[in-house]
Amino acid sequence: MPDTIGFIGLGVMGAPMARNLLAAGQELVVHSRSPGPVEELVAAGAERASSPREVGERADVVILMLPDSPAVEAVALGEDGVLAGASEGDLLIDMSTIHPTVAVEVARAGAERGVGVLDAPVSGGDVGAREGTLSIMVGGEEAGVRRAQPLFEVLGGTIVHVGGHGAGQVVKACNQVVVAVSIAAVSEALVLGSKAGVDPGRILDVLGGGLAANKVMEVRRRNFLEHDFTPGFRIDLHHKDLNIALESGDAYGVPLPVTGMVQQGMRALRARGHGGDDHSGLLQLVEELAAHRIGEPPPEG
Ligand code: NAD
Repeated sequence: MPDTIGFIGLGVMGAPMARNLLAAGQELVVHSRSPGPVEELVAAGAERASSPREVGERADVVILMLPDSPAVEAVALGEDGVLAGASEGDLLIDMSTIHPTVAVEVARAGAERGVGVLDAPVSGGDVGAREGTLSIMVGGEEAGVRRAQPLFEVLGGTIVHVGGHGAGQVVKACNQVVVAVSIAAVSEALVLGSKAGVDPGRILDVLGGGLAANKVMEVRRRNFLEHDFTPGFRIDLHHKDLNIALESGDAYGVPLPVTGMVQQGMRALRARGHGGDDHSGLLQLVEELAAHRIGEPPPEG
């Protein structure tokens, strides 16, 4: 008999991912703190569970898509959590972005009950979640990865088994470092060029054809040029992810000075009330430091 799939955390990412699984013909049992998306999924054919424990009891494979490490600890390990309801031979797949040490802790707790655990964070954003084209970086044992592969193929386009428990989260931290530093670099380049009198759109046009080209300037081009910082991916969440990267650097003895500076920039923006902006909104801080808004005329002289 095919596996029944449980899905917990129906937010910006989780709701479209769960919808894609349902559309692919999977039997789905769902639970989330916010009732709206649960109703929608139930109307589309999913079944409702009243707690993570009940999802663990009713499903063979449970997927989590939660905001952060404390939420995953509560939902996976809590008294009323998934593992409390799970049976030997079940599989728990955490696709949230959390701290690698918490991923290892959840895997250990699963092993004690005979439940396989994978950490499988994603990149690709809400668009990738809707279109089923996420990049999925998977940590854990081969047998679990093989069992999860058909589900991953519904949710994503690039699926790489990167190592043992926690390795998926380590690679996600690496991903978030590159994205954050790229946003900072593009922001500095735009402010420098614009304050010197060059049109910011033309800067991106020509940089996009050479070694400086990157996805950030391609995908967020309009956000930068129009100062439209509707998320997308919130500064609050990216700040959380850079904390994970910096703490991982601490744990493994790896200085990350450039990441640290960008993380402080994101913290400054949160303090100014911009935590809900898209992460391309880092541009606003660089503009403030330079007293120049890109696209506006450069100062006289
Ligand atoms: P979100 O805040 O939109 O969704 C989280 C969902 O979890 C919400 O529906 C919330 O009600 C639910 N939830 C929270 N605590 C719960 C609990 N204790 N029990 C049951 N449900 C609970 O967040 P999101 O943007 O969907 O992100 C989810 C994860 O994916 C995060 O770890 C994020 O860093 C990561 N991620 C997000 C993006 C993005 O572009 N938004 C991209 C890649 C990865």
